[in-house]
Amino acid sequence: MSPRNRHKRKAGRPKPEKLPTREEISRDVKKLKGMGAPGVNYRERSLALHGMICAKCAREFTEADRHLLTVHHIDGNDRNNPADGSNWENLCRYCHEDEHSRGILGDYLTGGD
Ligand SMILES: [Zn+2]
Ligand SMILES: [Zn+2]
Repeated sequence: MSPRNRHKRKAGRPKPEKLPTREEISRDVKKLKGMGAPGVNYRERSLALHGMICAKCAREFTEADRHLLTVHHIDGNDRNNPADGSNWENLCRYCHEDEHSRGILGDYLTGGD
């Protein structure tokens, strides 16, 4: 009796089951809590502390145009974020740009030759 030529039928391809790693889970949780980006947090904190108003031109903002209001770091170090908001200034986009271009220009002018 010759052995039957048995075709091994693949009993369904084993699906590569990808389980999320512990790291991925905690990252997702952070994303859900909105804690992943510290940059977002200090902006919200600064707006809450100083109000939705430009510190320079005193233009007031609402929920609708709050995206035009940005947070300026007074000492220019965006990693210096004290909880009391002492390094933040809420500036509208235009004043913020002005503030920075002025600083660069100022450095140019006072930087000697
Ligand atoms: Zn302004
Ligand atoms: Zn700035």
